[in-house]
Amino acid sequence: MRAWALALTLGSLPLVQASAGVLDVRVLPASLHPGDVAVVVVEGAPNARELSGTLGGQPLRFFPRGDERAALVGVDLEAKPGTTVWRIGVIDDGGTSRELSGRVVTGPRRFPVERLQLPTPMVDLDPEVARRVESEAAQLQAALATISPERLWRGPFTPPVPGQGHGFGSRRVINGQPRAPHSGLDFAAVRGTPVVASNRGRVSLTGEFFFAGRFVVLDHGLGLYTLYYHLDRVDAAEGAMVERGDVIGAVGATGRATGPHLHWAARLGSARVDPSTLLSVSLGD
Ligand SMILES: [Zn+2]
Repeated sequence: MRAWALALTLGSLPLVQASAGVLDVRVLPASLHPGDVAVVVVEGAPNARELSGTLGGQPLRFFPRGDERAALVGVDLEAKPGTTVWRIGVIDDGGTSRELSGRVVTGPRRFPVERLQLPTPMVDLDPEVARRVESEAAQLQAALATISPERLWRGPFTPPVPGQGHGFGSRRVINGQPRAPHSGLDFAAVRGTPVVASNRGRVSLTGEFFFAGRFVVLDHGLGLYTLYYHLDRVDAAEGAMVERGDVIGAVGATGRATGPHLHWAARLGSARVDPSTLLSVSLGD
């Protein structure tokens, strides 16, 4: 009943509690909002031969969490309010299969509108730059679409630089034109400030992109990624394993940046999630 205790200490009750025999499924937090990382907890299936599920059509990738099994689900920052169905299927060691389903509600979240003025060539891209940006976006998507089957993170996540990030999800109007919402958290920091891995993972991609500047993408396994942009320097090699707290680069202002800062973002499956939620969610260990 550890997760119940967790829910109570968070001051909210699980919205969903379904039972089939001794099988319990809970979704935490109780109600979801755009940018959230939710945890689906399955209790009573410690010896399951097979445990699978989906939430809103996204596959659930389970990992052991004490006596329970848990899976993370991301709610994209542009998710519309509404009801989402989850389904869990268990085949126990005796070969008996059980299925459960339920629903969770995603509520609205208001994001501020941020108006920015940037040099015209950074906004109205000439065709050659537009092609470069498109190819870089495709490289990033290909990296993020790779799902490592094992959980690589261990213990809690840590902020990559000291301080408080801001601006996740803000609806951006750049030089008077509505643009894609801001999918990360910006941390103000002086150039050269060490940037550390927010958790254990594998360096999935590094490089220098038009918008991101010098960057590092870390794969934490099971579809969870963190991204670090506008670096002055990259101190991580593609394919290498890093531990939480390892220096992977230094703060800079490369790419489309108005000054030195770290843009820290997180992806879970295809969802752009608020990386600050990783700092508070109970992920096991
Ligand atoms: Zn940013």
